[in-house]
Amino acid sequence: TAEADFLTVSGLHAGYGQAHVLQGLDFSVARGEVCAVLGPNGAGKTTTLRALCGMVRGRGSVTLNGTQLLGRSPEHAARLGVAHVPEGRGTFNDLTVEENLRIGAHLRGGLWRRSRVERAAVAADLERVYGHFPRLRRRSGQAAGSLSGGEQQMLAIGRALMLRPTLLLLDEPSLGLAPLVTRELFEIVRTVNEEERTTVVVVEQNAQLALDIAHRAHVLEAGRLVLSGPARQIREDGQVAEVYLGVS
Ligand code: ATP
Repeated sequence: TAEADFLTVSGLHAGYGQAHVLQGLDFSVARGEVCAVLGPNGAGKTTTLRALCGMVRGRGSVTLNGTQLLGRSPEHAARLGVAHVPEGRGTFNDLTVEENLRIGAHLRGGLWRRSRVERAAVAADLERVYGHFPRLRRRSGQAAGSLSGGEQQMLAIGRALMLRPTLLLLDEPSLGLAPLVTRELFEIVRTVNEEERTTVVVVEQNAQLALDIAHRAHVLEAGRLVLSGPARQIREDGQVAEVYLGVS
């Protein structure tokens, strides 16, 4: 069905110079689904996300709604509704929370068209994002650099949501965060997915967390998918968890 073909990756090879990282990936993500990409360090998770948003070149095919993304620019992917939240977040420390969020709208192509309609649209998007992240609303005038790690991650995701993405790519959102704030963050991602029907691909070291919110999961090992299936099934298969995910 068209739903099942929202994001389709086939025969994807990608890497950096001599480093051939992805060795032929095949998977697809249905519209509205949360998909987790799991696996050990260096397996190629980050590279997979980069290939989905035009940040690395590769062979094979990555299509979104039938449009080829591979070999196109990150700007092209962004225009098609792909928002990428890289590891390390990339928010601007000296700008306030709200200024960072407005930059997200700017990337959508909004701010230089200073029409009343566009200003109203940005205001509505800010409201939407603050609705998901009450902590950001409370800190809207505060410099991003003064936020906690968890709040900075929320800001990075909030900024991506200002693009009104149809596909949200999250790279290791839990990295370096305390368990409690991580759980809060993942609950918000789940809510965004449910309320806005945003399709999410999340790369995580913390398999348990990701499997809690994911519908499907793929396990990568040395640039190949070694396991794919419904998240529930992967979560409940103790042996799988132990062998591939380092949990028991
Ligand atoms: P991690 O959780 O450690 O980020 P990962 O599964 O996301 O792991 P990738 O970051 O995709 O893995 O890296 C896969 C391989 O590609 C690694 O061997 C890494 O050293 C290499 N690699 C990543 N980025 C680059 C780069 N910019 N230039 C050269 N090699 C790279």
